[in-house]
Amino acid sequence: MKVADHIAASNSTFVSFEILPPTKGSSIQTIFEALDPLMEFNPPYINITYHQPEVVLKQRTDGLLEPRVVRKRPGTVAISAALQNRYKIDVVPHLICGGFSREETEDALIDLNYLGIHNLLIVRGDADSLTGRFSTTKDGYQYAVDLLKQVISMNHGKYLDEDIQRPEPTSFSPGVAGYPEKHAESPNMESDLRHLKEKVDAGAEYIVTQMFFDNQKFFDFEKACRNIGIMVPIIPGIKPLSIKKHLNLLPQSFKVDIPVELDREVEACTDNLQVRELGIQWAIQQSKELIAAGVPGIHYFTMGRSDNIRKIVESVF
Ligand code: FAD
Repeated sequence: MKVADHIAASNSTFVSFEILPPTKGSSIQTIFEALDPLMEFNPPYINITYHQPEVVLKQRTDGLLEPRVVRKRPGTVAISAALQNRYKIDVVPHLICGGFSREETEDALIDLNYLGIHNLLIVRGDADSLTGRFSTTKDGYQYAVDLLKQVISMNHGKYLDEDIQRPEPTSFSPGVAGYPEKHAESPNMESDLRHLKEKVDAGAEYIVTQMFFDNQKFFDFEKACRNIGIMVPIIPGIKPLSIKKHLNLLPQSFKVDIPVELDREVEACTDNLQVRELGIQWAIQQSKELIAAGVPGIHYFTMGRSDNIRKIVESVF
């Protein structure tokens, strides 16, 4: 079932979870161990992130540093199929521009179609951790909207090879990302919202947001979206803060603000166990307020561990 149909069919707020493929060399068991305790909350679907290759600096025997391209978390498509099979649940693999040419995108879409996976979250992909910039892959895309247009073209039976006889239209249901505190690279919120609207106009059926720690930012974002005619469902993304370092890491990596009150409370914690508990309580309050406001679903970023997510969901749903 499509995410948009799950939203339409649900008369109360549902819960969804986002997982990362394990790092190369780790067992898929780690994913099952994170997800098994969450399945009793009946998520209609699970998201699986995609990670482009990264350039890392490796030290050579002569001491010089050499750049190497490493894919640290492969396996998104296979994990999606494995989860679909194990839990009999819909899966939403993420599809990214970074690291993909158009041909490779088409091949990945063909694989997903054969596997009966029709939900996708279309994102551009993170900037390179070394340069801090996003680089377009040869014959790939610069923006998520262009990748989205390729997906929609296949839904209309248009493949890259125009000579295919009677091409079979696909039935992908795409969602896209939105940023209550603006995307880091956008000059201003107005520009970011205009580009978000381009994605919706191109065929995105719903929006999942970046994490935020102040619900007012989400409510303002939702209102601003509606004001410019973005009418698709908007699903808030929630991540519980879990270590003291998050006070700096999350603003740095995701360009999100930590509210003064949360910052003070984290600073007052004497160890990370206390921070983890505080993060749980903060996310519980956020979730309750979002549900009261009538959001269609809440999307929890698990980052591979689920004990804190389970405690949040247990006390909210
Ligand atoms: P885009 O929509 O392409 O926007 C990127 C920037 O370009 C924005 O500033 C936008 O305003 C601007 N822009 C857009 N279109 C145009 C245009 N035509 N002209 C000029 N400017 C334009 N990253 C991963 O690598 N893997 C994942 O699995 C993943 N999953 C995510 C899931 C969620 C829910 C979220 C919120 C983010 C996720 N990300 C993931 C991170 C995402 O890839 C980054 O935030 C990335 O920097 C932007 O992605 P986007 O799809 O929003 O990009």
